[in-house]
Amino acid sequence: MSSLDAPLADIIGGKAATALDKAYELRTVGDLLRHYPRRYAERGELTDLADLRVGDQVTVLAEVQRAHRRQMRSRRGSLFEVTVGDGRRTLTLTFFNQPWRERDLTVGRLGLFAGKVTAFKGARQLNSPDYQLLGEADDESGGSAEDFAGALIPVYRATAGLPSWTIARCVRLALDALDPPPDPLPAPLRARHKLLDLGTALRAIHQPADHAEKEAGRKRLKWDEALTLQVVLAQRRLAAAARPAVPRPPRPAGLVEAFEARLPFELTDGQRSIGDLLTAELAQPHPMHRLLQGEVGSGKTVCALAGMLQVVDAGGQAALLAPTEVLAAQHARSLRSLLGPLALAGELGAEDPATRVALLTGSLSAPARRAALAEAVSGEAGIVVGTHALLSEGVEFADLGLVVIDEQHRFGVEQRDKLRAKAGSPPHVLVMTATPIPRTVAMTVYGDLETVALRELPRGRAPIASTVVPAAEKPGWLDRAWVRLREEVAAGHQAYVVCPRIGEGADPDEDVSDLDGPDEASDGDGPARRPPVAVLDVAPMLADGPLAGLRLGVLHGRLPTDTKDAVMRAFAAGELDVLVATTVVEVGVDVPNATVMVVLDADRFGVSQLHQLRGRVGRGSAPGLCLLVTDAPPDTDARDRLAAVASTLDGFELARIDLEQRREGDILGSGQSGKSSLKLLSLLRDEDLIGTARDEATELVTADPELARHPELAAAVAELVAAGKAEYLEKT
Ligand code: ADP
Ligand code: MG
Repeated sequence: MSSLDAPLADIIGGKAATALDKAYELRTVGDLLRHYPRRYAERGELTDLADLRVGDQVTVLAEVQRAHRRQMRSRRGSLFEVTVGDGRRTLTLTFFNQPWRERDLTVGRLGLFAGKVTAFKGARQLNSPDYQLLGEADDESGGSAEDFAGALIPVYRATAGLPSWTIARCVRLALDALDPPPDPLPAPLRARHKLLDLGTALRAIHQPADHAEKEAGRKRLKWDEALTLQVVLAQRRLAAAARPAVPRPPRPAGLVEAFEARLPFELTDGQRSIGDLLTAELAQPHPMHRLLQGEVGSGKTVCALAGMLQVVDAGGQAALLAPTEVLAAQHARSLRSLLGPLALAGELGAEDPATRVALLTGSLSAPARRAALAEAVSGEAGIVVGTHALLSEGVEFADLGLVVIDEQHRFGVEQRDKLRAKAGSPPHVLVMTATPIPRTVAMTVYGDLETVALRELPRGRAPIASTVVPAAEKPGWLDRAWVRLREEVAAGHQAYVVCPRIGEGADPDEDVSDLDGPDEASDGDGPARRPPVAVLDVAPMLADGPLAGLRLGVLHGRLPTDTKDAVMRAFAAGELDVLVATTVVEVGVDVPNATVMVVLDADRFGVSQLHQLRGRVGRGSAPGLCLLVTDAPPDTDARDRLAAVASTLDGFELARIDLEQRREGDILGSGQSGKSSLKLLSLLRDEDLIGTARDEATELVTADPELARHPELAAAVAELVAAGKAEYLEKT
């Protein structure tokens, strides 16, 4: 008998063990038993052959319909051709010079056939497939009814030379030898949620008698994944919350009050309630860890600014970290303008109370940098805005009390920690993201943060209309798009034209955020696709053509910083009509007078990315217009994606669509290595289970932080952490 830790070779023999190790890095009995079936073939229900795609490695359950041997004309030998079918469609199996196959593959036999799908004269076929016939136990093919006793036949991810049924046989040997394994899920928890014990669940998922049994097994094994993950996160949250922080309670008649009094608009209800939440959390003696998810244009900056001012009122400083120089500079500008005389401490015309906003980026001149550093270290600047440059050595604060990170997805935990380290005691942390993500993903990926959402837009916002412009089918529409853009400019507004690429030898993906990029391969576009259009090609074309006479500016990531800044400034000041740009405008750029955006080759962007881009228009009181230009053919994934973006302004809904179209491994950043800790659990579909597991985990960890009373669970958690399988949690 064996345990889950036993080496596979002891149970299934050295040869099979080597093959499994090579194919999937499966080394122990536990590794193999957690290599779950991908699906189940059902006895009496043949695989739908319509789904097979050329190039796929497949395992199908089919019936032999025809079989005949013929001499080859062009070369010596014979070809044995077998036609198998699912009742509607057929698949051809070919065997060269293997006459003994004729005894096996007789008409009417049922079997599993495995191989790589190829196309020959328009028909799909498998060349020399591996197969396993079902039926008699003494089958000469080696098939044994015992391997497939149930109605459901497990189908494993297979590779050439390691067919599904070989894996099934190894699994059977492993299960037969397995002692009842220790169970990481505490018995009371199992009872509460009606979960099988581990040994039973492993049997149920590999050798189910029926669907109910399989589902019971899956549910239990999903719990393993959900609970260990949530325990890790709960432990992190608890440890963070136990750290002391300097409380920064609100101060009457301070900057916050003065600031709110001078706001030119009413705060939305959402902004108010988030304001209250931040007020309370900043006053706690433990560090706040908040993720503020806000719909694009919902006014997160104002919320953050109020929080920062509260900290300044309490004698501390706040740092605002932005992902790009353009955005950092814009933040500094808009904070100063929102604050007006409140940001002029030490200058003529300052009010009392007042503070200063310093800007620190990598490209400052030496004197400007020295000045900013001095304001930070002396505490004169209550607010220091910057890029990664804020993380560098030599940047010091007098008393850093709050770190605000805008657009979280470009910063990792590591960077957050670096900035935290600049504070005497752990600072409060507020992370803001405009890339909304479903609750469960937030709970898992940002599991060490408490999340709150701002979904409401300020009143009086005109809606953004979005239209897909299929340039290939309807070239007239593109002409019309440029006319619309000119009309907006004629009415005194401004426009963006966004391209996927910079051009002129630049790295093709330079400015495209890899996080949101669509999975190129998934569209089946083939290698022959033309490269996406580039800013440096499009700008002159527009200037000499449809946008002749308008004031055009160019913005992309390869420009020197001061040029970027000058262009952004000019656009914000209304000195440019049109900005031809890459996705550098994606994040946070705020020019309320811009009303129209034309996205060229829109299909080259991801759903969330398009939503972000679109959020750059319609920020004022004039209605926004977003034109998504594409030459992707109708009825492709790319077109569906664009139609989805055009159909809704709900970022949360779009984030969901985006995630559904990507593999979950990508969401977690753990790639397709198969080593991901989430094999069964789906962050999208298992929302309830994850929520319940989070509650259970929190309770377990609160009562017993080191899980001393649950050694099996502690071991599973330790394994998750040690294997670096939780690493993706750090890489968000
Ligand atoms: P985001 O959440 O996308 O970062 P911002 O904070 O940049 O949004 O706000 C977008 C714009 O809306 C800014 O020009 C800001 O001044 C303005 N704004 C913020 N709150 C309100 C409000 N309550 N009413 C009207 N305008 C607002
Ligand atoms: Mg913003």
